[in-house]
Amino acid sequence: MAKTAAGIVADPIYKEHLTGYGHPECPERFDAIAEALQPLGLKEFAPRKATVEEVLLCHTKDYVDKVIEDVEACSNSGIINGSYQLSTGDTNICPNSFRIAMYAAGGILTAVDAVMKGEVKTVFCLVRPPGHHACSDAGMGFCLFDNIAIGARYAQTQYNIEKVLIVDWDVHHGNGTQEIFYGDPSVFYFSTHQHPLYPGTGSEAETGKDKGVGTTLNCPIFPGSNSRVEVTDAFEKKLVPAMETFQPDLVMISAGFDGHVNDPLGGLNLTDEDFASLTKIVKEIAEKYAEGRIVSVLEGGYNLEAIASAARAHVLALMG
Ligand SMILES: [Zn+2]
Repeated sequence: MAKTAAGIVADPIYKEHLTGYGHPECPERFDAIAEALQPLGLKEFAPRKATVEEVLLCHTKDYVDKVIEDVEACSNSGIINGSYQLSTGDTNICPNSFRIAMYAAGGILTAVDAVMKGEVKTVFCLVRPPGHHACSDAGMGFCLFDNIAIGARYAQTQYNIEKVLIVDWDVHHGNGTQEIFYGDPSVFYFSTHQHPLYPGTGSEAETGKDKGVGTTLNCPIFPGSNSRVEVTDAFEKKLVPAMETFQPDLVMISAGFDGHVNDPLGGLNLTDEDFASLTKIVKEIAEKYAEGRIVSVLEGGYNLEAIASAARAHVLALMG
């Protein structure tokens, strides 16, 4: 059977964002996943840098200016690979961080172009720094700019895309993505995440209905032996029915692998096979409503072996 055309955005430049010795969001994450995916023969797309204008689709000018100032101050401090923090939150930066963050956001735009032009149906974006904790006016949680959110808005502004589904299975709630699209009927944000856990948001009560529409669907899950089944159940029993009404034109995935059983930060006990199962459910949604178009974006995941095997299972399922 012919494999579905699938692509990858991956560039060693993503290793140039340095977070300091012992930080879990480390450059080695890139090599671990890149090596695992290399044998799959994915079509490669070279990332471009996002423009400031494109980042402003989701972030405030004040915040972008603040990131530039913080990175300059980091350069002036002489700290090249240490614990210099972004002033808005717990995100370590280095003198390269603004530039690499623009390539991370730009990598998603490259992927959106590839699926919208029909060059491939699905693309996995092996980018860092991650993005889903970055709010419109504040980076946090290892994130500078919300890569997937910028990609969703770009798809809407550049192409004939009305409705975007963002599926976020990272073990943490994507508070930034939720905030950026909260109450926006054109972007559906679905998240399964461990609760209680950083950043503390993502209750079932946060639906977006208080802003007039309800296109936010949070599924907080307690860690435990049954949590992996609950994650899959949420996809089958909550996401799939919700999409019968929403009917997305483009599907995007915040693919964090920190829900993996071997991850040091999360406790949802997901296996490689579970990530494949979740991918298949999302792929069915994409094929039913969105001409199969999926842009998948790396978020968290901190055990190097686990992210390699889980990303491989995920991408193989994307390939179909
Ligand atoms: Zn995470």
